[in-house]
Amino acid sequence: MGERVALVTGAGSGIGRAAALRLAEEGARVLVTDLNEAAASEVAGEISKRGGQSSACKLDVTSESDWQSAVQHALSKWGCLHVLAACAGISFTKPIAETSLDEWRNVLGINLDGVFLGLKHAIPALRDSGGGSIVVISSASGIKAAAGASAYSASKAALRLLVKTAALECAPHHIRVNAILPGGVETPMWRTMPFFQELVVKLGSEEAAWKTLSAGTPLARLAKPEEIADAILFLASEASSFMTGAELVIDGGYTA
Ligand code: NAD
Repeated sequence: MGERVALVTGAGSGIGRAAALRLAEEGARVLVTDLNEAAASEVAGEISKRGGQSSACKLDVTSESDWQSAVQHALSKWGCLHVLAACAGISFTKPIAETSLDEWRNVLGINLDGVFLGLKHAIPALRDSGGGSIVVISSASGIKAAAGASAYSASKAALRLLVKTAALECAPHHIRVNAILPGGVETPMWRTMPFFQELVVKLGSEEAAWKTLSAGTPLARLAKPEEIADAILFLASEASSFMTGAELVIDGGYTA
């Protein structure tokens, strides 16, 4: 990675946190961003403790002014921006007939509009920095439907074509744009889901609940966030220099 500058969204937890730590470990200067400013600061502190270079700021991906400030933050601090890792996202499960329009819009607003705004504001900065790489976290739920996951699946499926469109638009500027489609990953995101909370109570631990959830996964487990972070590092780095508009499915065989 050299001293490339990377902006990671949703970096206060789960996949984004693991990505920020991994990119920094490889020498990148990382702007750790999250809606939860304290969590972002904690991760930036962890990077410093491990000898890496980082900064932190609040970035609500649904806010265009937050995006402008965050990109400016990276440019003011380091003078360039080479990588955007769009990890922020929320889960939501409810049958369509019971989902309010506000709930639908909230999921699409964060998971889809949030990435659109990121592309809109990061692309010019990456272009002016001589090019770079954008990695967007979609989901295996953007391939395979599940009852109750309409808004989430719609948001993640839409990201796949948004990424491919961005790849075509960005290719002349030496910016690559790729998507990662994880299956289940052991992150705090699951704690927001009522059915997971019930499963934890019933089985006595998160480990047991994750084990049950992995029943449909051939590798018989969920991923660790670090396994997704390794793929983010690969797509962010020159190791993937001829990949753009591509999708990496990392799901233990779930969609095979
Ligand atoms: P997580 O809940 O651990 O982390 C998500 C982070 O995003 C949190 O720190 C949260 O504060 C932040 N966030 C939420 N709303 C935000 C907003 N409006 N602006 C900025 N930040 C915001 O979840 P995770 O599992 O690490 O999820 C990361 C990404 O991976 C998401 O896009 C998710 O859809 C995707 N994903 C997760 C799984 C899984 O099983 N965990 C599977 C496939 C895809």
